[in-house]
Amino acid sequence: MSAYVLGGGVAGIAAAFALRARGHEVTLLEARGWLGGRAFSRPDARLAGDLDNGPHVLLGCYSEFRTLLRRIGTEDGFARPEALRVRFRDPGGRAGELRLPALHPVLGFPLGALRCRPLTLGGRLRLVCGGLAALLPVRATQPLAAWLRRHHQDGDPSRYFWTPLCRAVMNADPAEVSAKLFLATLRRALGSGARGMAIWTAARPWQELLGAPAERALRAAGVSVRGHARVVSATCAEGRVQTLHLGDGETLALGRDQTVVSALPWHGFARLFPGACGPAAARLEGAPIVTAHFTLPATAAPRDEGPIVALVDGAPFHFLCRRPGDAAERFALLSGGDPGLGAAPAPEIEAAARAQLRRHYPEADAAAGVVRVVREARATAKFTPEVAEARVAPGPVPGLANLLVCGDWTATGLPSTLEGAALSARMACG
Ligand SMILES: Cc1cc2nc3c(=O)[nH]c(=O)nc-3n(C[C@H](O)[C@H](O)[C@H](O)COP(=O)(O)OP(=O)(O)OC[C@H]3O[C@@H](n4cnc5c(N)ncnc54)[C@H](O)[C@@H]3O)c2cc1C
Repeated sequence: MSAYVLGGGVAGIAAAFALRARGHEVTLLEARGWLGGRAFSRPDARLAGDLDNGPHVLLGCYSEFRTLLRRIGTEDGFARPEALRVRFRDPGGRAGELRLPALHPVLGFPLGALRCRPLTLGGRLRLVCGGLAALLPVRATQPLAAWLRRHHQDGDPSRYFWTPLCRAVMNADPAEVSAKLFLATLRRALGSGARGMAIWTAARPWQELLGAPAERALRAAGVSVRGHARVVSATCAEGRVQTLHLGDGETLALGRDQTVVSALPWHGFARLFPGACGPAAARLEGAPIVTAHFTLPATAAPRDEGPIVALVDGAPFHFLCRRPGDAAERFALLSGGDPGLGAAPAPEIEAAARAQLRRHYPEADAAAGVVRVVREARATAKFTPEVAEARVAPGPVPGLANLLVCGDWTATGLPSTLEGAALSARMACG
């Protein structure tokens, strides 16, 4: 048996390993010259170093993605705290934090929430109740904002906890996304021990943690990895994929025992297999992530408060992120799911980033240094309650006997994340 895997992101890499382990001859076709998909870094002359396309974080409970990291030997390239710790910055510069003790989150969350400093006592008690309510069943049609209102989480619990967490996990505002999907991730984290809720941050550029080591490990496992191999069209007939056409004019004809695994993003899949994608993939929209990478003189930079700081009521930027081990003068502001910013010109984004740095860090000299803007227009799929319920299942595609599909947008029960992508590959090919 042999298989073509289309796309060398997390899902494609994990699918290629899974198929190879089952004895298939595997060829991975990737459009770009490197693997890693939406989590990558490239050298940047202006900032004199490797620049991530955007900061990626994981939760300790991302077990499928961690299995992939162990397979390629890079799990130790992340800062791995013992429990959840998130810092906050209010507009005006007041700092605070939510820090859970290293106990099982069922105990640790209430204890941490009760000590969460910027919140009033009433806000802290409501947050504890919200954490407990997250364990109850939830209606599939409910947006997260409605769930928050129903469980009295408006105001401080939402500003300091739920909204930043929703931006981090779903890359959107709570009004836009499925409560069920968001709470599925939270429940997984709550159920997997103190370390499962901890936020892991990459201590090295993503190309060193994912793309390059994955390519080496795939080749060592006997997978044929072909870069610059964009599949531009596919011919389907008699209920099968018959040929794949590459951008350089090459045609790959598929024999009876050959399978195609699509690990493309939703828009790539819909373009290649328009009849097979169903209404869900056709209706899926992307949400952008915009990152403003700062390099300020040491005296002008904000103090290092850890890898992630949630910017409370922050707009258009929601987090300040630092790579552990980087000099204090290097950091990034990240905007998740703001469609206006995704389409704005770079100078406008830079001006917005500097203005916001001034608001949340009045002590920094926001006018100094260099800012490099990176935009990812379709960083994640946006799962409204309606779209979330209509996702395509990872696995065989109805009507095409030799086509399987996976990717972070397929129906894994998780949002569009590194973990969702890795899980989809196991569901489709494991
Ligand atoms: C800036 C940014 C920040 C993010 N932050 C986080 C985070 O903090 N935590 C988290 O869990 N997730 C985060 N995500 C989302 C996460 O990166 C994705 O969910 C995950 O990487 C998707 O993996 P995938 O393999 O499903 O798809 P992709 O990574 O999109 O992989 C698809 C691959 O297919 C290739 N391809 C496309 N078309 C073709 C074609 N026609 N022929 C051949 N190859 C093709 C692409 O080049 C790509 O390599 C972030 C995403 C971005 C962009």
